[in-house]
This record gives sequence, structure tokens and C-alpha cells, in this order.
Amino acid sequence: MTKIALAIHGGCGVMAKDDLSEAEWAAARVDLHRSLQAGWAVLKSGGSALDAVQAAVVVMEDSPHFNAGHGAALNTDGEHELDASIMDGSNLETGAVTLARHIRNPVKAARRVMEKGDAVLLGGPAADAFAKAEGLDVVDQSYFTTDKRVKALAAMKAHAAAGTAAKASESEKHGTVGAVALDASGHLAAATSTGGYNNKPAGRIGDTPIAGAGTYARDGVCAVSGTGKGEFFIRYAVGHEVASRVRYLGEDVDQAATGLIMEELKPYNIGAGLVAVGADGSVAAPYNTAGMFRGWVTSDGDFFVATHDEVFAVSAKE
Ligand code: ASP
Repeated sequence: MTKIALAIHGGCGVMAKDDLSEAEWAAARVDLHRSLQAGWAVLKSGGSALDAVQAAVVVMEDSPHFNAGHGAALNTDGEHELDASIMDGSNLETGAVTLARHIRNPVKAARRVMEKGDAVLLGGPAADAFAKAEGLDVVDQSYFTTDKRVKALAAMKAHAAAGTAAKASESEKHGTVGAVALDASGHLAAATSTGGYNNKPAGRIGDTPIAGAGTYARDGVCAVSGTGKGEFFIRYAVGHEVASRVRYLGEDVDQAATGLIMEELKPYNIGAGLVAVGADGSVAAPYNTAGMFRGWVTSDGDFFVATHDEVFAVSAKE
């Protein structure tokens, strides 16, 4: 059996450590831990990387702590428009939904789009109708809304009115969830899901549903899931670029990922982060913000979760 590996993120839009109580940070870490457990259970039992990343992302979509599914960001009209994608590194198949308004777990719809094969990306009402026809759970918009996002939208609108949007904290702006995995057959996969950024224009589509930008996986190279200002992830084709650096420059996954986030994107002063896993099971999780919700499991089965600098070892069980 080859190595297996898993890494997740819950977005680089993390508040300053002092802005939340230790109990609140602990609650977010619990859900990161649960996400790792869901993905790892699949990999441990010989399941596919594709199933593992989907399982890990579903847990974070269902959690209020992250900007995806329940707890997603609100656009400028005070509505949710959700994006998600998934990619299978074994054959470069991918599926995505964008501007979805009613799909409870957008990553599941992305997976169905991929499996159907008629399209790579379905958008708007067509995505919602597709999910419904496929028997996936559809919900009212109110299911996605949390107090935290309502407050963040108000704060972003106040910043916009005062001309201080650039000064808004990363947590007021954005977030996303994602997972990358290597399975026992040596296959790589990635999945990402988001509400985009708070106060985004209605109809705005970010990097998350764009293969090669927010999500990318290719066997023998790496799998990548990004978080941060999506416009730059699209412009720099970040997921594909990390893979290209590994594939053509021979960089390791950490060099390639850190090079993109810390060097190439540096001049723009945007929040950015990603998780990546290599074909050898190595994991990278660079971010340029105050923190990034993240976690990973080593090939020895050791679990780690983190929100800021401090990394917590957590048990495989619980
Ligand atoms: N990348 C996401 C987007 O631009 C948001 C984020 O990760 O913060 O939609």
C-alpha cells in the first residue's frame, strides 16, 4: 500500500486571535478535526481520494464556522450565491457549480456534475435544478445565513461607504473550505466550496469553481485547494501553477505552494492561502494572513489542526 495523506483548510479569512474567546476557537478546531476524521476514515478503509475530499468538505459545509454551505458569506444584495468544485487527479475529470442558491452541499452537486459528464460547470438556477433532479438536498436561503455573516455584511457595507474596504479584516471579507488527498492507489483529488466574499457583487464568480484556479489535481504531481481573493487565483491560475512548478521545475510541493502565496502574490497585498498534497504524500499549507483554519493527517496517522501559528496535535479518535 502506498502512502495516504489528507489536508484541509477552512479559509484564510481568520479573525485575530484576540477577537474570539478560546472556547470559540476550540469549537472551530473541533469541526476541523471532524472534517479530518471524515476524510481519513475513507482513505484508511482503502477508499478513493475523491470520496475522501468530498467527505471532508461536507463536514465543513455543514459547520457554521466556515464560509461555505451553512455559514456562507452574503453578497451585496444580502443573498447567498455558492460555488464549489471537485477534481479527480487520476483522469483530470472535474465538476463544479456556481451561483447556486439552494444546494445544501454544493460539493455533492459538483461531484454529480463531474459524474454526469455533460458539463464541467453548471451555474445559477440550472445548478439548483440539477441538484434537485439528482435527489440532493435543497434548502431555503435562510439555512445558509448566520448572525456572524449578517454582521460581516453590515461591516463591509460600512467600510464601502467610508471608502475603507481595503482596511476590512480578512475575516470580514472572506473564507472558503477545501480538501486535498492522496489515496492508497496513488490517486490525488481536490475539492473546494465557498460563499465567496462578503458584500461581493451579485453574480460574481470566484476561483473556487474554476478548475486550475481554486482547485486542481493531477496524479503524479499534486492536488491543490485555494482560499483568498479569488480574482487573483483566477488570474494566476494558482492551482495549475503550483502543479506546473512541481511538474516542470521539479520543486517540491512546499516550495511551489509557498512560492506562489508568499512571493508571486505578495505585491498585491491580498489574503491568500492554500493546502496542497504531493504524489509522495507531502503536505503544504502556506497562508499570508493572520491565520488559516487548517488541518492535516500525516501518513503515520497523526492528526493536526490549527487556526493561527500554534499547531495542535489531536487524536485520531474522539
Ligand atoms: N476564494 C474565495 C473566492 O474568491 C474566497 C476565499 O477563499 O476567501 O470566492
